[in-house]
Amino acid sequence: MLDTAQSLIKRGGKLLGLDDDQIDSLIKINAEHVFEIEMDSGKTYKAFRIQHNNKRGPYKGGIRFHPEVDLDEVRALSTLMSFKTAAVGLPLGGGKGGIIVNPKELSDIELEELSRKYARALVPNIGPKKDVPAPDVNTDSRIIDWMVDEYENITNDKSKASFTGKSIANGGSEGRDAATGRGGVIALRELLKKLDIADKKLTVAVQGFGNVGSFFATISQKEQKLWQLVAASDSGAAVYSGKGLDAEKLDKFKQKGGRFSEYKSGDTKIISNKDLIGLPVDILVLAALGDSITETNQAEVKAKYIVELANGPVNEAAYDYLTEKGKIILPDIIANSGGVIVSYFEWLQNNKSEHWSVDKVNNKLEEYMVNATSELYETSKEMDISLKEAAFVNAIKNLL
Ligand code: NAD
Repeated sequence: MLDTAQSLIKRGGKLLGLDDDQIDSLIKINAEHVFEIEMDSGKTYKAFRIQHNNKRGPYKGGIRFHPEVDLDEVRALSTLMSFKTAAVGLPLGGGKGGIIVNPKELSDIELEELSRKYARALVPNIGPKKDVPAPDVNTDSRIIDWMVDEYENITNDKSKASFTGKSIANGGSEGRDAATGRGGVIALRELLKKLDIADKKLTVAVQGFGNVGSFFATISQKEQKLWQLVAASDSGAAVYSGKGLDAEKLDKFKQKGGRFSEYKSGDTKIISNKDLIGLPVDILVLAALGDSITETNQAEVKAKYIVELANGPVNEAAYDYLTEKGKIILPDIIANSGGVIVSYFEWLQNNKSEHWSVDKVNNKLEEYMVNATSELYETSKEMDISLKEAAFVNAIKNLL
């Protein structure tokens, strides 16, 4: 993943005629905080906070709790954050953090201890003007609320602007939960307009019906009447219906802890995740994991339009292969930027002691997404390059 991120920066830099020193300065990571957290039980966990670039503003990026977190992955994700915030024009930089832990094996008390100790260790290096972490894989508003409390207890800063992704009662923003899925809907809608196919009926398959994928599906069902959801998957299986699926119904089923392998309704069929990738749909939305499409399954993809809602779901080789085959891929750093955009709004609200309505948040998100997608498309046309290359070119211009 780090190789892919750095290779994309090099490609973008070369397209802009940058020299090696300029490209190296875009790749360079500013600071790496790698430490051990010792629990009261004596058990230790390895933890990271990587701060890639703060030229545009405080470092910004999530914290993930996962047994497979590793330094290179966090480096890659922090790098991608700098390019995401720059590509959409936010006055923020890029960072990412993580702890090597399976949070499902911890009691609530241990989870709180771990979260507080992580924040405590980082206090000298984070804060509203330095680095503003957020939730990511396996972390949520409850964990962030503990971290904010720890930060406040030590620093006496009561602005709540030290972290985003807080609960609403603790200074979180309206609309944050849905922001990444909503942003994906707006970016795709705008791209289809540019491609002159906004008035066509299009079928959609969504890989990964989690936070991002489910909001993408339910919001598009309400707002984009010409898009028809025909397949959706979780980690175990996919549901498919050629007549169309009801996203709200699927969402309710998942919220009750259901598994798609056991979903029954009308004429829906259960298919495998592998089958979902190869469905003859118009739009394939990838909202599960990194590296979902690689050299091993790229030839199976039949969809003409692919939306990278997860981070790095199409690897570089597959991206080049699919682009050559005439597929159009809406790149992650634009497609999933709705989350960091509304995190930015949360940080602004905290700094100004304001609380915006969900309509205000969504309207401002709309503005950012429309502009970013339009700039993306124009750069790709003007320079005759792929949308992914265009996203990096736009980001680099904003980072120089
Ligand atoms: P999530 O854990 O809520 O959802 C992930 C979904 O993918 C779940 O439904 C899971 O069952 C499914 N899944 C896992 N493995 C799968 C597989 N092999 N095949 C099919 N489905 C599989 O996570 P999320 O918050 O929705 O994030 C999804 C992706 O989007 C991640 O890559 C994340 O980094 C990225 N992302 C999230 C946000 C955000 O705001 N949550 C912002 C930017 C990027």
